[in-house]
Amino acid sequence: MNHEEISRRIDRFIEEHREEMIRELMDWVRIPSVSRADLYQNGAPYGPDVRKMLDHALKRCRDYGFRTADHEGYCGSAWYGDSADEIGFYAHLDVVPEGPNWIYEPYEPVVKDGYVIGRGADDNKAAGVLGLYIMRFLQENNIQLKHAFRLMLGCAEETGMDDFRTFLLRGGRVPEFGIVADAGFPVCYAQKGGWNADLLVPKGRDIIDFRAGSVRNAVPGSAELVIRAEEESVRAALSGAEDFEVFPQDKDTVRIVAKGRGGHAAFPSGTDNAATKLAAVFKALPGCDLRGLDFIARVFRDPYGAGMGFSCEDEVSGKLTSNAGVFSVSGDFIRVLVDVRYPVSAEIDEMTDAFKNQLASCGVTMEALQIERPFYIDPEDGKVRALQACYRAVTGRMDEPYAMGGGTYSRVIPGAISFGPGSAHQMPEFLPEGHGSAHGPDEVLHIESWLQAFRIYVLSILRLSGADDSTL
Ligand SMILES: [Zn+2]
Repeated sequence: MNHEEISRRIDRFIEEHREEMIRELMDWVRIPSVSRADLYQNGAPYGPDVRKMLDHALKRCRDYGFRTADHEGYCGSAWYGDSADEIGFYAHLDVVPEGPNWIYEPYEPVVKDGYVIGRGADDNKAAGVLGLYIMRFLQENNIQLKHAFRLMLGCAEETGMDDFRTFLLRGGRVPEFGIVADAGFPVCYAQKGGWNADLLVPKGRDIIDFRAGSVRNAVPGSAELVIRAEEESVRAALSGAEDFEVFPQDKDTVRIVAKGRGGHAAFPSGTDNAATKLAAVFKALPGCDLRGLDFIARVFRDPYGAGMGFSCEDEVSGKLTSNAGVFSVSGDFIRVLVDVRYPVSAEIDEMTDAFKNQLASCGVTMEALQIERPFYIDPEDGKVRALQACYRAVTGRMDEPYAMGGGTYSRVIPGAISFGPGSAHQMPEFLPEGHGSAHGPDEVLHIESWLQAFRIYVLSILRLSGADDSTL
């Protein structure tokens, strides 16, 4: 088939299926599929809600005659074609919790001015629905591919990608090559490595409580500390410092609340970690033993890892970032959950050893450590170039492959390249600032960009699978 013929067929398909696709997406958004490993059940490792979402998605694939498989509730597959050679297409069905400040209903999606609004409408149910409609396009046009097209739907992307990690550990097989539809266009050729640690820091006698944050990968925007101290000395320590509130509890106990600026762990610029800021102010309060705060301020105040002895950068992936995202008190310790993203060239094992020595000398224990290796593919690789060409053919844009600090399934699944479906588009004018983003309140999907992503993906699949004989 030549390029003009393919374009014509895609146009016709979109015209005929546009409304149906939007309805399909809205049905998926209505299922509030937050991944909950704490609600583990056999066959539903992330709780009943995600299980329900996976059942729904696989059933929808079967409704059109596609073969499906349920991989013990960790993820699922649907196929078009039955060649043993497969091209993968990855999306995730779980969503982040809805969080506060919604104007619209998170799980009662609406369409407004060319956008779908709802939790998961963009991240990442839009991609799952695209996968289903790519299969429908291939089926309705009766296109024979060299490869089978395999849609793979994960159930725990937002909570650390334990879904595909477990699937692979248990011997699950994935296609030799696949597209992860959970980033932006064009091709992402490098992703930083991930380094997640849980630390137990001896808190010091006079700390009663210290809490901040709920997820590791977000910078805490507020923090709360309860200490045994005199109100006067607390106020003296604050001299001039803003964004703090002091609440005396009784005559020798004070609660202090700090405000910072929250944000994503991978993008510290413009954020201010409320917990490390609080620690920095109170680390040496006269007459009090608050030694845990000294460690926290010294090691985690700098969001580029200087305090950890980690700071480094390279041209491909930029600076290392470090975020202490969650704080709580457990016995005589402050538990700190840390999210580090390191450049592809960093010697992470040596850095980790040095850091462990530093911890030992302060009496700090590392309860858990998980290292995800960085992702890198040569931007001149043939498949990367093919995907870039399809992106250019549809959009007319010349953007080069890009690197990013956020991690997608590319870090976990061998041979999986992140490519789309997000495009730079305007946030809707009817939403106030701070609304509309993927993990924020009033998450939106821009429908035209979504349909453009559909074009790019269909072209890419045909191209990679030899059904498009034109040269782009
Ligand atoms: Zn996502």
